[in-house]
Amino acid sequence: MHSIEFAAAVLSGKRRILVFTGAGISTESGIPDFRGPNGVWTRVDPAEFTIDKYLRNPDTRKRSWQMRLESGALTAKPNKAHRAVTKLWRTGRMLSCVTQNIDGLHQKAGLPNKALIELHGNAGEARCIGCGDRQPTVDVVARVQAGEEDPSCLLCGGILKIDIVFFGEMLPPAATDLAFDLASQADAVIAVGSTLSVFPAAQVPFEVARAGHPLVILNMGRTAFDDLAAARLEGPAGRMLPALVSALS
Ligand SMILES: [Zn+2]
Repeated sequence: MHSIEFAAAVLSGKRRILVFTGAGISTESGIPDFRGPNGVWTRVDPAEFTIDKYLRNPDTRKRSWQMRLESGALTAKPNKAHRAVTKLWRTGRMLSCVTQNIDGLHQKAGLPNKALIELHGNAGEARCIGCGDRQPTVDVVARVQAGEEDPSCLLCGGILKIDIVFFGEMLPPAATDLAFDLASQADAVIAVGSTLSVFPAAQVPFEVARAGHPLVILNMGRTAFDDLAAARLEGPAGRMLPALVSALS
């Protein structure tokens, strides 16, 4: 493990820093991660939530909306780590933020849309599989709360689905292309709160490191790319990232 000072020294002079974020940046906002010791996948079988099952099976949809209702993610607030990313953006040294998260907390922390690539979509919107109509997820969840177990599209009766990438679905091509394009322009990358084990998303920070630029990893616990890291910080993102960004500004 390295110190904040060491990581800041690794990033000194870098002007096109790519920030890559995963579930670990949002755990301090009360959103459980997926693969940690208390992660969602210790309680729920991810194989239950493939796109095929979702489209075929009303029970899967029922459970999916119920989980959405109970998760609290729709009312979660950004934490100090999200705000630190916004602060780094405002210093002019950050190229962009690529996130695996679907919680919308970077936007809530003031990061402009043009500085954010959401590889796995955004849970704040629901989309009709049939006609493509979009509406706020809070409105659909309100229908669930009012007793509709599997709410369908009010326009065409089609299946409604949160606008996120399910297991078995492709990543959105435009966002993916843009993320890799940004990775090729970056002169450093900070990976925050990700085990860097979900592909192709984790390929984004990998590409920056492969081009010979420093990779700084901030995570609780090991990651798949620890051996590639120029600096490795261990600890809660809400404490470590503001300290790192302050050391850079
Ligand atoms: Zn529809």
